[in-house]
Amino acid sequence: MTDSHSPSRAAYDAIVVGAGHNGLTAAAYLARGGLSTLVLERRGIVGGACVTEEIAPGCRASTTAYIASMLRPEVIRDLELPSHGLKMVPCDPALLVPFPDRTVVAWWPEREKTVRELEKLSIRDARTFVRVDDELKRLARYLQPFFLEPPPDVGARGLAGLFEALRVGKRFRNISASELGRMVSFLTGSLGDFLDRNYESEKVKTLFLANNVYGKHGGPYSPGTALGLLFHLLSGGEHELQGFYGHVLGGMGSITQAMASAARKFGAEILTSATVASIDVRDGRARGVTLENGAEIAARVVVSNADPKRTFLGLVGERELPEEFRASIAGIKMDGPCAKVNFVLSEEPRVHGMPSAFSRPQRSLFTLVPSLDFAERCYNTARAGEIPEELWVDCVVASNVDPSLAPEGRHVMTTFVQYVPYRLKRGTWDENRDLLGDRVVRKIAEHAPNVPAAILARQVLTPLDLERTYGLTEGNIFHGDLSLEQLFFMRPVAGWARYATPVAGLYLCGAGAHPGGGVTGAPGHNAARTVLKDWKRRVA
Ligand SMILES: Cc1cc2nc3c(=O)[nH]c(=O)nc-3n(C[C@H](O)[C@H](O)[C@H](O)COP(=O)(O)OP(=O)(O)OC[C@H]3O[C@@H](n4cnc5c(N)ncnc54)[C@H](O)[C@@H]3O)c2cc1C
Repeated sequence: MTDSHSPSRAAYDAIVVGAGHNGLTAAAYLARGGLSTLVLERRGIVGGACVTEEIAPGCRASTTAYIASMLRPEVIRDLELPSHGLKMVPCDPALLVPFPDRTVVAWWPEREKTVRELEKLSIRDARTFVRVDDELKRLARYLQPFFLEPPPDVGARGLAGLFEALRVGKRFRNISASELGRMVSFLTGSLGDFLDRNYESEKVKTLFLANNVYGKHGGPYSPGTALGLLFHLLSGGEHELQGFYGHVLGGMGSITQAMASAARKFGAEILTSATVASIDVRDGRARGVTLENGAEIAARVVVSNADPKRTFLGLVGERELPEEFRASIAGIKMDGPCAKVNFVLSEEPRVHGMPSAFSRPQRSLFTLVPSLDFAERCYNTARAGEIPEELWVDCVVASNVDPSLAPEGRHVMTTFVQYVPYRLKRGTWDENRDLLGDRVVRKIAEHAPNVPAAILARQVLTPLDLERTYGLTEGNIFHGDLSLEQLFFMRPVAGWARYATPVAGLYLCGAGAHPGGGVTGAPGHNAARTVLKDWKRRVA
């Protein structure tokens, strides 16, 4: 599979800026819809923040995103991703938390098994777990349809407004008053308060925490952090399972390789090492792009997979956008609160308390966060611009599930660090990269003392590296924080949440658009649908 290095024509129906998974998804749907489509990617590989890369000779890792949980089943089906090589296996357990007292608690895909695990900690909590799980799953189903639809258009008036009210009303027609109340409290409340209200065991609460708030701002007691409980229950994976967590064979890059292959099969062209310097606008309409090397390529529509700040403050000329819109885009809360450290090890981590009967795949993940208070402290430290002394580290030994990622005798472990600042109070990230790596190793060593001596290679990706290497402005893994005021009809900004932008023929298709970040394919799918609808209207 080769990417071409120059476009085959001078003009296309559609140009997609960026070959992240959403850009590729959009391109595949556009090409399938009959539009001549060109994808332009600044990096030498496709995939954006969903890639597999070699981090040491013969050792490949999901350098950024590492677990597939919310990839839309519809996208998997429409693009026939399994026939392009995508294979996912459920994480089993879905989660495992080792505690400082050397016990471990697991969350299994099979609910009964989790209940038995929780019963060891609190019979009352085990019962509550079933009740709450049922309720969360019911509530998540109300939100689910909005994932693959534009958000409610609160500005629609007249007949359009009526249709919009009907569309939204239909989704909620069976919701009871008490469910609505619960929904609002999940949307606005804090994870910590919810857990304190419902559970008595600190370990049970920590298990929930270990599955939540990743990549976003706010400690567990910040308003809006309970929302993740619902988001994680949107069904994902090939078989549409609620709360699906998957390992991807070949690493997360297999998703984007499959998407690129599907897009090409529908006729899209993909160019890598092709940085777009500007989106060209004339008379209020997007006309194409200019590459960094000066080449101009014309298009009738331009679809940007770059984040909103990069797109509107970097690629579109200042004069082409209303001042108020630019100010709203500049005001998006971006600064990314996390980092990633990837390792090659000579032996797999031997985690205190890991049951000896566990198979290799069962030993493939563990989350190091001891309590809600710990997480809250971490967040407050990071918020003040400091790197926390003790870190929250989520570890996946991917080669335990897919041994092809590393040669015999080598192990690939990726770790996600929740809560570091993008803006440091003292020094730069270039000066503090090793310090971050060392603190991650120190945290892991508390639970798996064999790890420090087993490290053969280490790749530290600070928020600044995420920005520089992957093009994520301010290192934000979701193209903008997933806080309530930046979701639904307010994503990326109020009034422009339906993929179209103030520039005619320019659309946004990445994680900065509704429904937001994570490897879902949803913004790409929804944006392509909007483009195709507008296209038909224009041509008709
Ligand atoms: C460290 C990390 C861990 C994560 N973990 C998970 C996880 O486990 N599970 C999960 O579901 N999600 C995870 N995420 C989030 C998820 O990966 C992202 O939200 C998602 O991949 C964003 O996809 P996208 O296609 O919208 O944008 P991106 O992947 O950011 O793609 C945008 C693309 O546009 C390109 N681009 C930008 N500007 C230009 C230009 N001027 N010219 C040409 N190309 C350009 C970029 O190079 C990039 O390839 C993680 C992200 C990171 C960074």
